[in-house]
Amino acid sequence: MDGLLYLDHAASTPMRPAAVQAMTPFLTDCFANPSGSHRFARTARRAVDEAREQVAVSLGVLPGEVVFTGCGTESDNQAVTGSVAHRGGVAVTSAVEHHAVLDPVLASGGVAVAVDETGHIDLDELTRVLRSNDTVSVVSIMTVNNEVGTVTDMAAVSKVVRREAPGAWLHTDAVQAACWIDLREVTPLVDMLSLSAHKFGGPKGVGVLVVRGGAAPAPIIRGGGQERERRSGTSNVAGIVATAVALAETDAERDVEVERVSALRTRLVESISSSVDVHETVPSSASVPGVAHLCFEGIENEALLFLLDTEGVCASAASACASGAMEPSHVLAAMGLPRKLAGGALRLSLGHTTTAEEIDAAAQAVVSSVERLRGAR
Ligand code: PLP
Repeated sequence: MDGLLYLDHAASTPMRPAAVQAMTPFLTDCFANPSGSHRFARTARRAVDEAREQVAVSLGVLPGEVVFTGCGTESDNQAVTGSVAHRGGVAVTSAVEHHAVLDPVLASGGVAVAVDETGHIDLDELTRVLRSNDTVSVVSIMTVNNEVGTVTDMAAVSKVVRREAPGAWLHTDAVQAACWIDLREVTPLVDMLSLSAHKFGGPKGVGVLVVRGGAAPAPIIRGGGQERERRSGTSNVAGIVATAVALAETDAERDVEVERVSALRTRLVESISSSVDVHETVPSSASVPGVAHLCFEGIENEALLFLLDTEGVCASAASACASGAMEPSHVLAAMGLPRKLAGGALRLSLGHTTTAEEIDAAAQAVVSSVERLRGAR
């Protein structure tokens, strides 16, 4: 990544060297299919079993509650679509979920609950929706928003769901949470939880779905019956081994990283806001340390991203291009952010490889790009 200022960790974060090292033997020497019956297969199977145990420890659940999937999207889809397939009824979610949750909920005729201006789910509205519908089978509320970084009070959500819809299964998309929040505090509150390895230094193409508390979402990938009939398909042994190592390392370093990255985020936002007019979409107190979501009134984020790219800054805007026009994201629309701000939205996301030098150079690039675009008006 020489010459690149990588501030797009929420999209994907570099693999941890220990994870690469752990997976390599399973790509080269120990390539057997773990479903086989010979000793070579048994070695691969043991590696998957040990990885499952390691993931379970990092999440505070039982090994039997850990299902390996093909990505975070698949884990989310299974939690929603699999629950509705198993039990019928209605799925309920929030309006700011990742499309991996929102789309299956809406496709099944479910309901998306409103959020406030910081992206927190409206608990009164959630209460109303659950009270007015006695067939809710699954509720899915994300632990951390991928676009603006808002952290959900899952204890409060769980309280409302258990009180108003005691029969519903509660799922959380915790894909953006693993680096910043001890998930042992979240798993006891929910029945299902989704993770994606490439968001915490594991490889792309591995997801985790925790299934506990009597939840039993139907499989959405059927075939050979792997993962105890919950997710068929030959196990991605190397990817699973690396996922467990990356999650354990993330877990061990979390406290230090939260402090370190929080300071870097503050430095980034202060450095930008001391030079140009900027709106911080969610205050740092409500967001994970890794996400700084900023809106620059009067400029189009497409142009800003282009200029930043020419300066080597990798960032994201999370806007969708519909009918040739940049539309503000569904997240910012649900938060009621005015169009003039949402159009100039920029997500800078930090991670385990981010340094102070990178932050200073990126802040300088953002300031000069914004000044240039504003000067050009
Ligand atoms: N959920 C959230 C909150 C995400 O941020 C992402 C990825 O950006 C996903 C789900 C999908 O994960 P994956 O890329 O593994 O399919």
